Amino acid sequence: GVGVKLVSACLIGVNCRYDGKSKLDRKCLKLFKKRELMPVCPEQLGGLSIPREPAEIKKSGKVLTKNGKDVTKNFNKGAKEVLKITKNLKIREAILKSKSPSCGLGLVYDGSFSGKLIKGNGITTTLLRKNKIKVITEKEL
Ligand code: SF4
Repeated sequence: GVGVKLVSACLIGVNCRYDGKSKLDRKCLKLFKKRELMPVCPEQLGGLSIPREPAEIKKSGKVLTKNGKDVTKNFNKGAKEVLKITKNLKIREAILKSKSPSCGLGLVYDGSFSGKLIKGNGITTTLLRKNKIKVITEKEL
């Protein structure tokens, strides 16, 4: 096997989402219990609080909260911290939460806070893929 994989912490039941809740995925929890996953929350690692205002990626590439606060630096820092963890632990694969502005793969919210999705990846997903880490979402498990 390829060893331990990264997982978005909210998928194994950690209450780290913007709304203070998790997004528990049974398959992820099962793998975690088998010690196959290393949980991380890039937004938490980027210094954001729980709960926090929801944020989306704008067309400009900046990440803004619903009230217009620029949290791009937090998102970038979180992505870098996650990348560091993958390097330290020699992790090659990640299972990340779909649609998130940090963790999403293929589809993310369009920046209008209206629930609309567009093609694109989260900030952490983009950095991991640039560094040859394979990313899938919980939906491909
Ligand atoms: Fe889950 Fe990723 Fe959002 Fe953290 S940043 S709550 S791990 S989707």
